[in-house]
Amino acid sequence: MEPKQTTPVSQLGEFGLIEHLTKNFQHVNASTLKGIGDDAAVLDSEGKKTVVSTDLLIEGIHFDLMYTPLKHLGYKSVVVNLSDIYSMNAEPKQITVSIAISSRFTVEALDELYAGIELACKNYKVDLVGGDTTSSLSGLIISVTAIGVANAEDLVYRNGAKEGDLVCVTGDLGAAYLGLQILEREKRIYLEHPEVQPELENSDYLIGKQLKPEARKEVLKFFKDMNLKPTSMMDLSDGLSSDILHICKQSGVGCELFEAQIPVSEDAYHMALKFNLDPITCALNGGEDYELLFTIEPEDETKIADEDTFSIIGIITKKETGCVLVTRSNNRHVLKAQGWNHFE
Ligand code: ADP
Ligand code: MG
Repeated sequence: MEPKQTTPVSQLGEFGLIEHLTKNFQHVNASTLKGIGDDAAVLDSEGKKTVVSTDLLIEGIHFDLMYTPLKHLGYKSVVVNLSDIYSMNAEPKQITVSIAISSRFTVEALDELYAGIELACKNYKVDLVGGDTTSSLSGLIISVTAIGVANAEDLVYRNGAKEGDLVCVTGDLGAAYLGLQILEREKRIYLEHPEVQPELENSDYLIGKQLKPEARKEVLKFFKDMNLKPTSMMDLSDGLSSDILHICKQSGVGCELFEAQIPVSEDAYHMALKFNLDPITCALNGGEDYELLFTIEPEDETKIADEDTFSIIGIITKKETGCVLVTRSNNRHVLKAQGWNHFE
């Protein structure tokens, strides 16, 4: 293999670097009036409400570059922000990306990061309209801000769940957490025995959910087409247990979740057992699934009933009855932020 060319950032300088990293980005939204290049971007909110969300990601805390390719990291950094916009039932239109880099990062490494950012922008039809670039003493820091729009009446908050509403999720849960367990296991093995080949077979789905998650863009279109407005919604980033507690707390309600209804993929199920973990505990407490958690009025059940994407996993109850998980054997366990453990 030819050695990869490496260019120190200092060769381009700050402005040269920004120009280099952002030159291929095209705008696709008419609402982007001015993007990169002036003191600020100018956006047209088209008479709608503006929705803004930011995340800050620190190397060693939020990601590990030993097993995270920079392109995946760029993609995921954008997607998790877009997921926050979608969970307001809003449409993301623009992002800004700020990075702090240590001298260990070459121009080629940053090209990889921006290739992932660019792919996310393309897949989700958002425009990169600005950011900031600075140096860091240790490691990489990335901050992404996503900006979206929605009609005021379409916005869905966390505080709208009512007694009798059905609790629903998209996709399946726990996969991203199990993907992370695989990557962490392989990292440990590599550090102790660098000659051992990684054992990653049959884990594409789980590792993919961890390294390259997707936001549930198509679900919003489905809601619109079905004339369905959830009563509350959020995306699952911390884990079902703690995330449903946010909805219940903010809505002033309780809930019953049914263990038997919580969707876990076959891959996740088998991998959990391999790790001596309880699959349901992984689904409840494993974070980063980026699926949507939402509640609907019971009369809307028929609108989602035929779609495999959705699972109805519970019901909203009175605040006084608390938030509980009803197990397959009909036991009731109080849901906790760190979840509930089969082995308690
Ligand atoms: P300022 O000095 O006003 O902060 P900069 O020189 O940092 O401006 O940035 C110049 C332009 O490049 C601005 O439009 C800014 O939003 C954009 N920009 C800077 N860094 C990045 C980045 N990492 N990614 C995308 N756009 C960036
Ligand atoms: Mg700046």
